[in-house]
Amino acid sequence: MIFIPEIEFQPKEVIKAFQEEKLRNQIAYLQAHSPFYQRLFSEHHILVDKIKSIEDLRHIPFTDKRDLQLHNWDFLCVPREQIIDFITTSGTLGDPVTFACTDHDLERLAYNEAVSFTCAGLNRGSVLQLMTTMDKRFMAGLAYFLGLRKMGAGVIRVGNGIPELQWDTINRLKPDTIMCVPSFILRLIQYAEDHGIDYKNSSIKRIIGIGEGMRDQNFELNLLGRRIKEKWDVELFATYSSTEMGATFSECPYGCGGHVHPELIIVEIIGEDNLPVPDGQVGEIVITTLGVEGMPLLRFRTGDMAAKITEQCKCGRYSYRLTPLVGRKNNMIKLKGTTLYPPAVNDVLDNTPYVENYVVIVQDSEAGTDDVVVQLGLKYEPEFDAVKDLKDRFRSRIRVAPTIEILPVPEVAAINFPAKSRKPVKFIDKRAKHV
Ligand SMILES: [Zn+2]
Repeated sequence: MIFIPEIEFQPKEVIKAFQEEKLRNQIAYLQAHSPFYQRLFSEHHILVDKIKSIEDLRHIPFTDKRDLQLHNWDFLCVPREQIIDFITTSGTLGDPVTFACTDHDLERLAYNEAVSFTCAGLNRGSVLQLMTTMDKRFMAGLAYFLGLRKMGAGVIRVGNGIPELQWDTINRLKPDTIMCVPSFILRLIQYAEDHGIDYKNSSIKRIIGIGEGMRDQNFELNLLGRRIKEKWDVELFATYSSTEMGATFSECPYGCGGHVHPELIIVEIIGEDNLPVPDGQVGEIVITTLGVEGMPLLRFRTGDMAAKITEQCKCGRYSYRLTPLVGRKNNMIKLKGTTLYPPAVNDVLDNTPYVENYVVIVQDSEAGTDDVVVQLGLKYEPEFDAVKDLKDRFRSRIRVAPTIEILPVPEVAAINFPAKSRKPVKFIDKRAKHV
């Protein structure tokens, strides 16, 4: 089976040597073809022949979203007429960033999804109902389609939304797998319950989630994952991917982190001192693409925080895994000397039965550190002191407790759903450096 690459089962030293050879090729390619990296190598006096190992990467400055925005076309390594697919991603400065894929890159994307779907247990003959959009300048839907085609699996392109059409399709065509944003599954379940659809006995055996995590740092299902699983006993697989990476980290059936595919991408986990942290520690995910022809990236800062696990997985693979995302680097909070991210705060609140709604507000304290205030509404008035109980809950889970303010439920709801926002607002950052 070509979609279960032998290299993923080799010891980690073999995987490292394998990646380093690909890295040397990629750097030589950038030196020959990338205006952006030619300039970066020359300005920083980097001799590309000296970059031989993954450790040597630390001599090369990082690339970030701002670079992509400011110098978008300098990243292109091929003549414009070789671009087959034009993709955009959201930029940090307002305008979107364009990504260009050559024919070779689309082939690489297809391969990436084929190995990722295989890792999640699909094979030739599986049928997947795709509940993501395939157009609107996105990479993802197209990549999934190409990957499924490549591995010989069936695909039903329903697109996002419209529960009625999704259920009609499931009943008619009997797919075994759904791919969508996990919170949409809750809508599908709701629709099925409202319309008497026997979803528990449908053909669906597996859900592959994109864009939202379904597990916590111990690989247990998080609130969203549990809500789905309690209602519908199907296998859940989380994935992590982005346009810039052109690679997907998919869970295997053991659900303990997303596996890297070593031929496609190198991951470094970088600490606050801009140096790699030891394996198992949380830091920023920094990626170097391998085998990309159109717009390869070298040491690109994703802004996402996670840890790398290098021990062999229960599935037999040694290819390293990434933990579920801990949060976004921009949202990092320093509370009383402890580093934490909004999802950890949300997790405590989501698991407190008497909390109806909440918003987490971070601001600068007079001492120059972060101050965290949680404003929340109560589902009911508990018989004990709710503020004290909540502080205990926070201390036992994240070691520190924020300031708690109890407000009427409608007041919190008004903050959660302001008129102009399509997404609920649960986190407000008022710190000077973030405004
Ligand atoms: Zn595994």
